[in-house]
Amino acid sequence: MNTIETPVLIMGGGPAGLALAVDLGWRGVPCVLIEQEGPEARRNHPRMDNVGIRSMEFARRWGIVKQVEQAGFPRDLPLSIAYTTGILGPELARDIGPTLQEAPVPPFSPQKHELCPQNFFDPVMQEAAQSYRGNRLYYHHKLTAFQDEGHQVLATVEPTDGGTPLLVRAQYLMACDGAGSSVAAALGQSPVMDRLLSCSTNIFIRSPELTARTGGSRAYRYILVGVDGVWGSFVNIDGRDVWRLQLLGSDTWPAWSDDDIHAFVRRGLGGEVAYELLSWVPWARRERVADRFRVGRCFLVGDSAHQMSPTGGYGMNTGIAEAVDLSWKIAAVLDGWGGPALLDSYEAERRPVAARNVKQGSENLSAMRSAPSEPRLLEPGEVGNIARAKVGQWVRAAMQREWRSYGIHLGAIYRGSPITAAEEADCPEQDVAQFAQRACVGGRAPHIWLAEGQSTLDLFGRGFVLLDFSGHSAEPVAPLIKAAEIAGVPLAYQAITNDEAARLFETSYVLVRPDGHIAWRSDAPPENPGKLIDRVRGVASGATGDRPVHLETAKTTTT
Ligand SMILES: Cc1cc2nc3c(=O)[nH]c(=O)nc-3n(C[C@H](O)[C@H](O)[C@H](O)COP(=O)(O)OP(=O)(O)OC[C@H]3O[C@@H](n4cnc5c(N)ncnc54)[C@H](O)[C@@H]3O)c2cc1C
Repeated sequence: MNTIETPVLIMGGGPAGLALAVDLGWRGVPCVLIEQEGPEARRNHPRMDNVGIRSMEFARRWGIVKQVEQAGFPRDLPLSIAYTTGILGPELARDIGPTLQEAPVPPFSPQKHELCPQNFFDPVMQEAAQSYRGNRLYYHHKLTAFQDEGHQVLATVEPTDGGTPLLVRAQYLMACDGAGSSVAAALGQSPVMDRLLSCSTNIFIRSPELTARTGGSRAYRYILVGVDGVWGSFVNIDGRDVWRLQLLGSDTWPAWSDDDIHAFVRRGLGGEVAYELLSWVPWARRERVADRFRVGRCFLVGDSAHQMSPTGGYGMNTGIAEAVDLSWKIAAVLDGWGGPALLDSYEAERRPVAARNVKQGSENLSAMRSAPSEPRLLEPGEVGNIARAKVGQWVRAAMQREWRSYGIHLGAIYRGSPITAAEEADCPEQDVAQFAQRACVGGRAPHIWLAEGQSTLDLFGRGFVLLDFSGHSAEPVAPLIKAAEIAGVPLAYQAITNDEAARLFETSYVLVRPDGHIAWRSDAPPENPGKLIDRVRGVASGATGDRPVHLETAKTTTT
C-alpha cells in the first residue's frame, strides 16, 4: 500500500476544500486534497453563482481576481432581477442591475462581488490550488476510513476505479466533504440546529431560442410568481444558453416524472420556446449547524459544518471565510509559534458566524415566500395589471435584503474570541443590508486606499501587522515588536500617515491578524506586550507553542 505523509489532509474538493488548499498553498503549507469525483463534476450541475465581496478580497490576496473576472461569465450582461409569472410572461417588477463590467467598486472594499457560477469558478480554484508546489490533488479518490490517533490522523483513501488504496498519515484532517459529511457523522456530531426547509429541485435546460428572444431585455435572474406566491427562480447560469430552474419545493421528497419536469419548465418559461432538458437534481434545503467544528485533529469546514438555504448566496462564501480563518492557525501551529487555543478559536469564532448566516438564509427564504396569494394574477386586462403591479411591488420589496447583504459578507465580528484582546465596549452588530466600515476588535480591518491600487487590505495576510497611526516613531511599541520576535510570531510594523485611515481605524495602534481581522487596538502600547502576544497566538501566558513540525513537501513512501 502506498503511504502519503502530509501536514494537512483535505477531504473534499468543493469550494471549501479548494479554498483551504489555495490558502494553505499560499502560506507554503503542503496539503493533500482527496476528491471522490472528477474535477468537472459540478460543471454540469452548478450550484453557487455569487462570489461575495469578502471572498473576492481573498481572491485579491491569492492573485486570482483576473481569473475570476475572466472565467467565462459575460461581463456585458445586465445583472437585472425580474419578478415575473414566466420569463416570457407578464413581468411584475424589475431591479435594473449593472453589468459586471459597469458595477462600481464600493467605497468600503478594494473589490466588488462577482457573479461566477460554479461551472466557471471551480476551474479557477482548481488551477489555483494546483499551482502550489506542495499541494497534491487526487481526483477520483474516496476517503473511506480515518482514525484520529491523538498525535496524527490516519486515513484510508481508495481510488474510485478500484485501484490500490492509499494510506495517508496527516497532522490534521479537514473535513470539507459537504452536506451529509461522513466525517461529521463519524465524529458523533449531533447538530444543534437542524431543520428541513424544503425538498427542492434544480432543473437545467439549454435554450438558444430563449436567449435570443429575451435579447437586450434579458435579466440574469427571474423570480417566478404564481397565484399562490413565489414558486421558483430561473437563472441564466452561464450568461448564455444554459438556464437553471430552481423549484422552491415542499416538505416531501419529490418523485417527479419527466412530464412533471417539462411542465415546470414550460410554466417558468411563460411561453412556447424550444429547449433541451439537460438534467434535473432534487436536493434538500436545510438549516443546520454542527455542534462542534473541531474534534481532536479533525475540523469541519464548509457545508460539513453547516447548511443554509441558498437564498442570499452565503453557503460557499461562509465556507471560504472558514478556510481562511483556519488556514493561518494551522500554519502557525505547524510553524511552532501557534498555541492550542489558536486551533480551538476556529470553532469559537466561526460557529456563531455560521449560525448567523444560516438564520439570514432562512429569513430570506421566508421573505421570498411571504407574497400573498393573488387569484387575479394571471387575468388579462386591467384587473390583472393591477394585481400584477401589487404583487410585483410586494415581492420586490420583500426580497431586497437578499440582494444587499454586505453586512453578512463583511460584518462578521469574532466576539469573545479566546485569541483577541478586546479593551473596549463591544461593537454593535452590523446590519445585513446597511454595512458601514468600523474598526473593531474581532472584526475585519477596514479598507482604505493608501495609494493608487494599494488598499490597507493588501498589507495583511502573511503574518501579524502592527499599524501605527500615532505619527510618532516606533519606539513606544518596540517592546511589543520584541515580544513577537521572542515568541517567533511574524509581525510587520507599518506606520501610516493618512488622516482618513487614522480616522477610520480610530486608535493609534491596531494589531491585525493574518486573516485581516483585528486582534487588538489601543491608543497606548500594551502594558504587558508578552501577554498580549501570547493571547493572540493562542498560548497561555509564559508557555511555549507546540514543537515545530517542518513544512516539507508531502512525501510518498511505498510500504
Ligand atoms: C441552488 C444552489 C445555489 C447556491 N448558490 C450559492 C451562491 O450563490 N453562493 C454561495 O456562497 N453558496 C451558494 N450555494 C451553496 C454552496 O453551493 C455550498 O455552500 C458549497 O458548495 C459548499 O461547498 P463545500 O466545499 O463545503 O461542499 P461541497 O460543494 O458539497 O463539496 C464537498 C465535496 O466533498 C466530496 N466528498 C464527499 N465525501 C467524500 C469522500 N468520502 N472522499 C472524497 N471526497 C468526498 C464531494 O464529492 C464534494 O465534491 C448554493 C447552493 C445551492 C444548492
